[in-house]
Amino acid sequence: MNFHVLTLFPEMIESGFHTSITGRALENGTIALDTINIRDYSTNKHMRVDDYPYGGGAGMVMQAEPVHRAYQELCEKNAGKPMRVIYLTPQGRVFTQSIAEELAKEEELVFLCGHYEGIDERALELIVTDFISIGDYVLTGGELPALVMMDAIARLVPQVLNNKESAEFDSFHDNLLEYPQYTRPEEYMGRRVPEVLLSGHHAKIEEWRRQQSLIRTRERRPDLLENNPYLTEKDKKYLKDTM
Ligand code: SAM
Repeated sequence: MNFHVLTLFPEMIESGFHTSITGRALENGTIALDTINIRDYSTNKHMRVDDYPYGGGAGMVMQAEPVHRAYQELCEKNAGKPMRVIYLTPQGRVFTQSIAEELAKEEELVFLCGHYEGIDERALELIVTDFISIGDYVLTGGELPALVMMDAIARLVPQVLNNKESAEFDSFHDNLLEYPQYTRPEEYMGRRVPEVLLSGHHAKIEEWRRQQSLIRTRERRPDLLENNPYLTEKDKKYLKDTM
């Protein structure tokens, strides 16, 4: 998987992504990161990339030309390989685990990060395939949203997580939240680890975890249980009996 990021702040993306699990995956070549500084494509002698909005109003707008030129050079470098171009914007569809799963199947992903009041609409019309938001709030730039998305997508790429870090039972697997996790010691501040987890009885542990997932999802995200196609008859009975 190759991540390409068009940004005015490549150092933010580089330092965020070259850390921990994604950093390890970059080092061993499972994924690759290519940051492109949009400012390098300014044709202005002062390397400006923004200007006042037509029609007036607060703030500055990133100009179409540097963004478009940066993208065109990336296309040439990539010899016309098909690429989804994601513009991070509060006006997009809200990012979810299922979007991460869909995007993890791609080989090339381009993230376009806006700043100030955003990017001239014409550049967006020319290059963007997907408009994605990370939530209903407004940030100063698209770099943190790009990192959020890239992290969620990268950990679904085969071999990025090792066996110990498997994504299989994480929250949103089966559209449920994950069960509670415990590690040593067996007792902390008078609170014991649930006995079943110490029993070594795998079937019972699995059943307990499923039940905890169901209870936790009902308590914290009941919306996930509505029309959830992954609920078995046994799950439904358990939920009914524990109402
Ligand atoms: N004027 C824009 C609007 O009202 O839609 C907001 C611009 S915001 C201050 C600057 C940049 O931050 C955006 O171009 C976008 O790239 C990024 N951004 C801000 N909030 C975001 C969010 N919730 N999800 C994704 N990107 C976001």
